[in-house]
Amino acid sequence: MTMRPEDTEVWDPIPKIVKPGEGSTPPDDAIVLFGGQDMSGWDIPENVHWVVRDGIVTISPSLERQKTPVWIFTKERFGDVQLHVEWRAPAHIEGEGQRRGNSGIFLPGRYEIQVLDSYQNPTYINGQCASVYKQQPPLVNACRKPGEWQTYDIIFKVPRFSRGGRLRSAGRVTVIHNGVLVQDHVKIEGRTTFIGHPEYVAHPPRQPIGLQDHGNAVSFRNIWLRTL
Ligand code: MG
Repeated sequence: MTMRPEDTEVWDPIPKIVKPGEGSTPPDDAIVLFGGQDMSGWDIPENVHWVVRDGIVTISPSLERQKTPVWIFTKERFGDVQLHVEWRAPAHIEGEGQRRGNSGIFLPGRYEIQVLDSYQNPTYINGQCASVYKQQPPLVNACRKPGEWQTYDIIFKVPRFSRGGRLRSAGRVTVIHNGVLVQDHVKIEGRTTFIGHPEYVAHPPRQPIGLQDHGNAVSFRNIWLRTL
């Protein structure tokens, strides 16, 4: 049978209309996690101080947290997301390797995309900036100089578990760092661990998103996500 062009045309369902952002503003269907005013969307432990000033939030430097990091988490829980984060390592260079501009984005279920000043700062490659920490090095090093703003655009599909807690499908992550693809639909091996191999710990699909306080004065601005 001869096909006509219209035989392969699809007309519905019509994709929802989303108004894209202008410049650095989020699209109109985004949930803003930090828009510059306050950190009211986050659970911040009592002894943790993140200072908001001029539309930017900055981690208070702390030697104690350089040894033992802490996390802040969103009050709301999320599953599959498209996440936009802007961050900046301190212009004044202190420390080296993992001690320079270390923070991290913890995707729902505690899977870390490393934040680190990896501009002329060697460390283990699966722990450098934009790595899936201790799992997958970035495809390239797209770091800007310390003191310059950097962007992460992350697409994360959470792992799915059976009722009995068995892994049904692994998490997947894509990361674009400063407009450069650095993680391409990478399979997540399990929850991020500092020591030992990653393993999955079953969790419901919707979980808070975290930011790491590793004692370095890393700044953030313009954090938003779209639920997928
Ligand atoms: Mg980190």
